[in-house]
Amino acid sequence: MKIEDGGEQGNVEDRRGMKRSTVVGGGIAAVVLGLVGTYFGINPAILQQFFGGAGGQQQGPADPPKDGYDKFSKNLLGNLDTVWRDQFKKNGYGEYKKPGMVLFGESVDTKGCGNNIPADVGPFYCPADKTLYLDPTFFAQLEQLGGSKAEFSQAYVIAHEVGHHVQNLLGYNDEVEKFRRSEGENAGIRLELQADYLAGVWAHHADKQFRILDDLGEIEKALQTASAIGDNKLTKGRVSSEKFNHGRDDQRYYFFKQGFKTGDASKEYLKRFMSPSVKPLEIGPKAGF
Ligand SMILES: [Zn+2]
Repeated sequence: MKIEDGGEQGNVEDRRGMKRSTVVGGGIAAVVLGLVGTYFGINPAILQQFFGGAGGQQQGPADPPKDGYDKFSKNLLGNLDTVWRDQFKKNGYGEYKKPGMVLFGESVDTKGCGNNIPADVGPFYCPADKTLYLDPTFFAQLEQLGGSKAEFSQAYVIAHEVGHHVQNLLGYNDEVEKFRRSEGENAGIRLELQADYLAGVWAHHADKQFRILDDLGEIEKALQTASAIGDNKLTKGRVSSEKFNHGRDDQRYYFFKQGFKTGDASKEYLKRFMSPSVKPLEIGPKAGF
């Protein structure tokens, strides 16, 4: 994968290396989230439940590792910004408001989704402050789950989180709330599969416009990553099944691939994920997607 330097730069803040003045919430919350396990895109409501009141302050000196990760993130997020701005224009969605992105280690404070959130939760998006949060060491864990930490696979994970941002701007977050009463946590699968699809849509346009892929094997690796973090893998031997709401691995695989194939971010396609006649676990090719 290659994204040229000199393109648009994303709004990335590197908080790795920051020392914490207070450590709160490392007890029960960390244990609970440890049980939940590592996956990305945790429901912010769950985070709030655990971390709403916990106070944590981050203080300098900030001395993030010089591993080039901030540069990679800025280039990648800038590319996502460029593609999504075009897609918003093309589909008549109005102005695209760029998301923020925070790189952190160990734990992080958000503006609206709780404080002192441990890295154990995996990458997540906070709708309240329109920001993605990522501890880059997540990718090493992902590899242990059978995923890939190749650059494009990492880009897929970040593009999935930006997919949640796009949903937030387009109102799908609110729309899915109407399914919560009847479908419970499964309602979230609608958003997760749509976010995988949106990640694929980004990859389609980014490759067409900027030739970011060196070879199609990179897509396969990213798909393998999507599969590795499907719920049926993560729930094995773990508790709190109601918190796994990302869909089965075959669903995730299908939608990332479908987004990459079509590049179609139209309302016509996106609204299908919110169809009351299709249950979350039936969302897929057989239901006309
Ligand atoms: Zn997600």
